[in-house]
Amino acid sequence: MRKSTPVFLAIIIFLGPALFAGLSRQIVTYDLKARLVPDEKKIEGQEVLTWLNDSDMPVSELQFHLYLNAFKNNRTTFMKESGGSHRGFKLDKENWGFITVKNIRIQDGADLTPSMTFIQPDDGNSDDQTVMKVGLPTPVKPREKITLVIEFTSKMPKVFARSGFVGDFFMVGQWFPKIGVFQDGAWNCHQYHSTTEFFADFGVFKVDITAPEKFVVGATGKRIAEKKNADGTKTYTHYQEDVHDFAWTVCPDFIEFKEKYTLDDPRVETEMILLVHRAHIKQKDRYAQALRNGLEFYSKSYGAYPYETITLVDPAPGAMAAGGMEYPTLFTADTITWLPKGVRLPEMVTIHEFGHGYWYGMVGSNEFEEAWLDEGINTYSEIKAMTKYYGEDRSMLDIGGIKVGSVAYNRISVIGSGRFDPIVKNSWQYISRGSYALNVYSKAGLMLLTLERWLGEDVMSRIMKAYFERWKFRHPTTKDFVQVAEEVSGTDLSWFFNQVLTSPDKLDYAISNLKAVEIEEAEGIFDGQTNEPKKEAKAGDKPKPAPKMYRNEVTVARYGEWIFPQDILIVFENGEKVRQTWDGKDRWTRFIYTKNTKVVSAEVDPEHKIVLDANYANNSRILGLKRPAVVKVALGFMKWFQGLLSFVSL
Ligand SMILES: [Zn+2]
Repeated sequence: MRKSTPVFLAIIIFLGPALFAGLSRQIVTYDLKARLVPDEKKIEGQEVLTWLNDSDMPVSELQFHLYLNAFKNNRTTFMKESGGSHRGFKLDKENWGFITVKNIRIQDGADLTPSMTFIQPDDGNSDDQTVMKVGLPTPVKPREKITLVIEFTSKMPKVFARSGFVGDFFMVGQWFPKIGVFQDGAWNCHQYHSTTEFFADFGVFKVDITAPEKFVVGATGKRIAEKKNADGTKTYTHYQEDVHDFAWTVCPDFIEFKEKYTLDDPRVETEMILLVHRAHIKQKDRYAQALRNGLEFYSKSYGAYPYETITLVDPAPGAMAAGGMEYPTLFTADTITWLPKGVRLPEMVTIHEFGHGYWYGMVGSNEFEEAWLDEGINTYSEIKAMTKYYGEDRSMLDIGGIKVGSVAYNRISVIGSGRFDPIVKNSWQYISRGSYALNVYSKAGLMLLTLERWLGEDVMSRIMKAYFERWKFRHPTTKDFVQVAEEVSGTDLSWFFNQVLTSPDKLDYAISNLKAVEIEEAEGIFDGQTNEPKKEAKAGDKPKPAPKMYRNEVTVARYGEWIFPQDILIVFENGEKVRQTWDGKDRWTRFIYTKNTKVVSAEVDPEHKIVLDANYANNSRILGLKRPAVVKVALGFMKWFQGLLSFVSL
């Protein structure tokens, strides 16, 4: 039967935007031209930006991120917060970075340059120029668009935090005036802080990059054109829809490798582009295999990788500060010139940064305000991927008999952690960078792994798939994640999330005491019994030795504020094992067993399901034994590895 025309038309109108506007609501369209001037370490830029007012109210001012101004002087908010160093890399005072907007006007309309004003919505620091606003002569009405033409110069700093140059290597990220997100009736456009990352709207990017011919160029999106210019330069045009940022890189010492990657279920077809610095060429295969693993793991676990390219950038030696950073369809990996196979730094960084393509790239959560939605979910995913491909007990380190898995590695940060900040908090308001990292990365990752072991892997897998499917190409919040988790699991999880997301405390259960006290035969005076003396045993009577009886006490304590149900395994001398459960709500509980055998050991969470437990060392006790000493060598290695990783942005 044919559908009647009005119904058919109504369907077309209703589905129209979804059918024809790409994968995301395309709020922005950037047409950028960038000309690299290598000797001056700068980029001459032109930007034509079309912005859609997707809100229900007229908008009379626009706000822009000018991220590079964080590197302009030592009084910017970024510099004050970081003290001029980021992950162990120091700023070079000979090479500041900045962005100058030379003019900004409405296409075929008013010049807005005179209305440009720097604002500081987060801290009022008048030396900070990382956010700019411009006033409009007439407001942009709801559902209408405005097109602006902007001319700017970006001076790249010597790289010490993500963007910049070292010699002829350039990592060009956060380099153009980027419009903020108009949300809930206001601009969401935070300053660049030392702990924060980014937030922007999805759209379409077409970018012309012009650089001297000797440079090998890589960039977000697909290369759609390439032409030689008369002045010895080349112009490369890249195009990508449904992304919210655009980054590029150049270096004459990159060696480019291209490889087609396909997967049948789900269907994935993309081109892997590896730009490996010639000094690290021996590690190319490690990068390539890690990227294949990442593509397979994330596509199968969360949803098919949808873009036509994925570019891995291996920063030049000396540019490690540019490494371990994500941009749409492009990320920077990291390595050092010589690295034993068992130190899985390039693998871990590759999988982690590729993974951001999902939790930062496609699921566009606000990294300023709820960084865990990206870093935490990504740490959880990374742990699972590393475990799958490199072995549960050795996924991070496997060298000279020392093995460290991804879970153990992340747990190291949580052990003995301070109780200053929760997982959900504005990123720039943590007490320290360490507290930010510990909460939004490790604690959040272990929190999700604990939830997985509580709900079961199958339920958790459905939650993650549903969350990705529902929120890709949108801007979810923590509330949205919790809602999906509760909906898919069919369980009220508020008891769990209310504690772990918003309270700065920790989860720590312990066997606080273990006792086996022999019960002596009854002696003394008991009411209701005769006081006659016991008959002497006749000579020759063999006294039947009564079996010794013990009062066994197992005391389980809650040292942290977070409450989580506990399993307890108690083992007796005769081999008997008893499993006990406890709701974990009181500060302590005691289990008593009167038996003709002694308790020898007890352990909370014997299967180590609750990886969020801050201290495993107190989880078990053996009768008569002091606390087992922590294996110092393994711990020492882990600290060393952590030190190595602390130089990576991740
Ligand atoms: Zn990360």
